Amino acid sequence: TPRDIVLDVAQAIEAKNPALGAYLSWDVEKALKEADQADLSQPLGGIPIGIKDNMNVLGEPCTCGSKMLSNYVAPYDAGAIQKMRAGGAVPLGRLNMDEFAMGSSTENSALGVTRNPVDLDRIPGGSSGGSAAAVAGQIAIATLGSDTGGSIRQPAALCGCVGLKPTYGRISRFGLVAFASSLDQIGPITKTVEDAALLLNHLCGKDLRDSTSLDVEVPDFSAALGQDIKGLRIGLPKEYFISGIHAGVSASVKAAIQKLESLGAIPVEISLPHTDVGVSTYYILAPAEASANLARFDGVRYGHRSTEAKDLMEHYMMTREEGFGAEVKRRILLGTYVLSSGYYDAYYIKAQRARTLIRQDFEKAFQQVDVIVSPTSPTPAHKLGALKDNPLAAYLEDIFTIPVNLAGLPGISVPCGTVQEDGKSLPVGLQIIGKPLDEVTVLRVADAFE
Ligand code: GLN
Repeated sequence: TPRDIVLDVAQAIEAKNPALGAYLSWDVEKALKEADQADLSQPLGGIPIGIKDNMNVLGEPCTCGSKMLSNYVAPYDAGAIQKMRAGGAVPLGRLNMDEFAMGSSTENSALGVTRNPVDLDRIPGGSSGGSAAAVAGQIAIATLGSDTGGSIRQPAALCGCVGLKPTYGRISRFGLVAFASSLDQIGPITKTVEDAALLLNHLCGKDLRDSTSLDVEVPDFSAALGQDIKGLRIGLPKEYFISGIHAGVSASVKAAIQKLESLGAIPVEISLPHTDVGVSTYYILAPAEASANLARFDGVRYGHRSTEAKDLMEHYMMTREEGFGAEVKRRILLGTYVLSSGYYDAYYIKAQRARTLIRQDFEKAFQQVDVIVSPTSPTPAHKLGALKDNPLAAYLEDIFTIPVNLAGLPGISVPCGTVQEDGKSLPVGLQIIGKPLDEVTVLRVADAFE
């Protein structure tokens, strides 16, 4: 029964979460009540799903991994949560993340450390590190993450799960705490491609409360599975297969391409000439949007409020000084700088132009191919702390995932092999990128590969 499933998952969480730190909180009683009422005629009937701690679920914490929101309780359900509930699913548990989804290791969380189940000395990736660690650590059946520059795909790759970022606008962002509104997208992290398709069936669709959500038909994504990929054209961007990628990652991805070829796919070399400006474009636009979005955390309306302040100005400054961590402050500084008069044209406008060029690169490439493949991340999971004081090195980890968000495309990461380090088999992810709204082909290739 749904009750048994919830109790099973809750038991696994109690047993394993102390070592993994994937969940920040969970409310078994609430989930049990909901499971008792779940509509079993629905495909997700009574299945508990873990939620990244930046999506509002009525009556539950929504901390965004930040001190700023550590005692905030969500007053409503996000659009994606409502859809998922309509499919029968039961939200269970809140998953750790980099503060406000800024990071690639979950080490920027102010509320705890999350470890990679494959090797507890390593990061789970990020920012949806809790969501990936929970699935890989067998303490969630499936979870939701959010992806602004790779935050679903990269942790899925590093933990050995499947992570899908849909086309921008596929899933409502209503009730997802905004990081960079033009890039953010919710998606599933699962054990299999089949589960990803099933969950996606119950997340998509127009939501009048998110003007960027798309009013387009939602196909049956599960119907995409179990087909062959004979004759499908697979683009290999020459700019993505460069030196600097970890040799083991490179080898796994090359073997994956051979496997796709053996299944009948046709590899085609393509070019995405503006790849080299992807990361810098993102690190202007995302902080710019973040600096505006995070202005709402002023100690008046939400969350933390400084008790030390003597006047209004001090109130704002001390609340934000105390509530935000170092990476969030760094992004706000970068963002306000690139938006300030005198620098706006040189940085923000220029980055918008670069974004258009990056999108056009993909448009041209997709005239020749059906999907594009690459490594998800240039390296396997680092040791905890390895990139902590090196934000620039951390930013470069997103080189293959960021362009996909800038262009608004769907992308999935599927496990494609392992790298041996310290006696551990560290997972490697293969990224499959699709045309806008063509999740069906992305899932079809991922499923055939799997
Ligand atoms: N690692 C990237 C960043 O720090 C992407 C994060 C994300 O996708 N939310 O911004």
